[in-house]
Amino acid sequence: MIIVSAPSGAGKTTLCQEVLLRLKEITKSISSTTRSPRVGEKHGIDYFFVTESKFKKMILDKRFSEWAKVHGHFYGTDKKFIEENMERGMDVLLSIDVQGGAQLKKQYPDAIMIFVHPPSLGELENRLQKRQLDSPQTIEKRLIEAQKELKASSEYQYHITNDDFSKALSELTRLIESVRKK
Ligand code: 5GP
Repeated sequence: MIIVSAPSGAGKTTLCQEVLLRLKEITKSISSTTRSPRVGEKHGIDYFFVTESKFKKMILDKRFSEWAKVHGHFYGTDKKFIEENMERGMDVLLSIDVQGGAQLKKQYPDAIMIFVHPPSLGELENRLQKRQLDSPQTIEKRLIEAQKELKASSEYQYHITNDDFSKALSELTRLIESVRKK
C-alpha cells in the first residue's frame, strides 16, 4: 500500500497518474465521493460520484477501509478493492488526505507514506488560482486546510517537493521502485 497525500494544488493527482503509466503491477484505488464531478472527470475513473445518502449507506455496510470529510465533502476508500488487489500481489496507490492516511497506517502498518509538498504556500495559492477550478472562497478554505495538512505531514516517512514537475515525478517513481525492492 502506497499512500500519497498533499495539500490541494500541490500536483499530487497528476504525479500519481504519471507514476501509474511508468510502473507495472501497481493500481490506483478509486475513491467514492459526494463531491460533484469537475469538468473532464469521469465516474469510475477519477472517482465514484455518489449521493450523500448512498455514501452513508456505504459507511453502515462497512464498505470503506477509511473515510473522511475533506473540504466539506465525503471521501472513502473501497475496502474490497484494495484488499483483493494486495492479495493478488498488486501494489495499491492511494491518493488521499492526511486523515485517511493516518487511519490506513493504523490498519496497514506496512503502508508506505509519501507526502508531496508545494514549494511554498504562496506558490500553492498561485497554482490554485491558475487552475481555475475553485471559487476565491474555496481557494481560501483550501489554503487554511493546507496549513493543517503541512503540519500533519510530519507523520509521513517520505517527502517530495513538487517544484519542478519532471524532477518530482522521477523522485516519486524512484522512491516507489526502491521501497518495492526492500
Ligand atoms: P479533490 O476533491 O480535490 O479531488 O480531493 C480533495 C482531497 O480529498 C484530496 O486531498 C484527496 O487526496 C482527498 N481524497 C480523495 N479520495 C479520498 C479518500 O478516499 N479518502 C480520503 N480520506 N481522502 C481522499
